[in-house]
Amino acid sequence: MDVDVVVVGAGPVGLMVACELALAGVRARVLERRAAPRSHARALSVHPRSVELLDQRGLLERFLPLGRVVPGWHFAGLRTALDFTALDSRHGYALVLAQTRTEALLEQRARELGVEVCRGVEVVGVRQDGEGVEVLSRVSGGTETVRGRFVVGCDGGRSFVRRAAGIGFPGSDETLSGVLGDVAVVDPPPGALDVARERGVIVVPLEGGLTRFVYVDPERMRVPSREPVAWEEFRGSLVRITGSDCGVAGPRWLSRFGNATRLAERYRAGRVLLAGDAAHIHFPAAGQGLNTGLQDAVNLGWKLAAEVKGWAPPGLLDGYDAERRPVGRSVTQNTEVQTLLAELTLVERYRRPAAALRELLERLLGMAEVNRWLAGQVSALGTCYPPAAAGADPLVGRRMPDVGLTIPGSSARRVCELLVRGRFVLLALAGDPACGEVALEEAVGAGWGSRVTAVTARTRDAHADLDGVVEVLIRPDGHVAWATRTPDAGARAAERVRALTAWAGTPS
Ligand SMILES: Cc1cc2nc3c(=O)[nH]c(=O)nc-3n(C[C@H](O)[C@H](O)[C@H](O)COP(=O)(O)OP(=O)(O)OC[C@H]3O[C@@H](n4cnc5c(N)ncnc54)[C@H](O)[C@@H]3O)c2cc1C
Repeated sequence: MDVDVVVVGAGPVGLMVACELALAGVRARVLERRAAPRSHARALSVHPRSVELLDQRGLLERFLPLGRVVPGWHFAGLRTALDFTALDSRHGYALVLAQTRTEALLEQRARELGVEVCRGVEVVGVRQDGEGVEVLSRVSGGTETVRGRFVVGCDGGRSFVRRAAGIGFPGSDETLSGVLGDVAVVDPPPGALDVARERGVIVVPLEGGLTRFVYVDPERMRVPSREPVAWEEFRGSLVRITGSDCGVAGPRWLSRFGNATRLAERYRAGRVLLAGDAAHIHFPAAGQGLNTGLQDAVNLGWKLAAEVKGWAPPGLLDGYDAERRPVGRSVTQNTEVQTLLAELTLVERYRRPAAALRELLERLLGMAEVNRWLAGQVSALGTCYPPAAAGADPLVGRRMPDVGLTIPGSSARRVCELLVRGRFVLLALAGDPACGEVALEEAVGAGWGSRVTAVTARTRDAHADLDGVVEVLIRPDGHVAWATRTPDAGARAAERVRALTAWAGTPS
């Protein structure tokens, strides 16, 4: 084998998958068609769960200074924002950061971890057999073949890898398109940008003195997304929608995007896996595509690494599809709801009832509980994977709360910091940290030491979800694999061994 895993596509998702694999000691090579990184940013947001994931890999300090923190995000362009600050997270905010920056930082990290990122390499063939995969690429001056144990298709919505693996991509074709423009704004007429916002145009200040406008123009919304946007069209739409050209003066980038919505019929076909836009596409409503893809990557990375390293318990890798496809389905559904609302608002025949529907939704979003629920969906902090066994502790499948800890002899101060190496964490929360540690380390040391970090700690913050919890097994992606509240040390030890075997494989 030339490498363990071939990752196709150096977008944010391919780079994140490669980082996760390399962190787990797996040799990964990324093949990317483009000769140079993209110069235009599609996504502008890193949502709270993605921020948490960056934090738990020790990467957040690279991202935070380059972005702008905002307390919430919109849903369907409604005036009442989703309030991320009300969510149970240290990172109850969205980080406004150009996708180009996200990609550059992830590529830097991937290279630091020893990943080969090969540009100017277009994958044109994928073939799998019992032992591995053969990936054929077109490179300048000819073709080359790489052999690996697995291939991960992170090659975007038109994924070649998905088609080569014969994985269907059912869903609906594009019926509506929107436009984005990154442009300079000079002396806008007073109040013009506020009027634009009131009329449904998204206006976001960018770096370098540019402003992003995003809108759906009722007169142009049936234009196919493949049709380029002319400057006259862009200005004309702004005038039509807002009553002025908002002072726009010179485009840096104009682009059209559509609402084709599709979900891969499976995320795995033997040795081929899919992540990110290769697995799900939808209208970019509420900024979820890149974020969902990053979360796919972190769910997949450790499972695939376990398979490559040979210790994955049965079904672990298939759990990637089982856990992430429902999330993909839910995201495609909520973006369809948002698109439908936009469309109804713009079609003359439905304008009045659509306005009434928007008012109703505004009122609902004004209710703290409703707002919190929807913010949990869009931020992905509400993502909970179904427990494998009936009767599991309510914590199982959820994100482990990032509580403060006291751990003798350790610099880690939060749960999140324990996950920096991308391993399981077995955390005992009861008893005296000084003496509990030995028993736990012995348990893990009996064969799981290279996959699991054992820690005994006292929590420094009270957290209702952890009331009575004495021991937790945290997965490398930060979700809870097992938790127990039993005070009976013997019963706990037996449960612990079962949980470690079910998740971290048989002891080596
Ligand atoms: C207007 C707009 C705004 C958006 N805003 C947001 C937002 O605010 N928040 C958010 O979360 N998401 C947003 N998105 C979605 C986000 O941009 C995508 O979900 C994200 O880029 C997906 O990342 P990816 O790595 O899966 O795929 P991509 O970014 O598409 O990367 C795929 C890579 O694979 C390469 N590739 C393709 N085929 C091959 C091949 N055969 N061989 C080798 N390489 C290949 C491509 O060159 C590309 O570099 C937005 C999208 C649009 C269109």
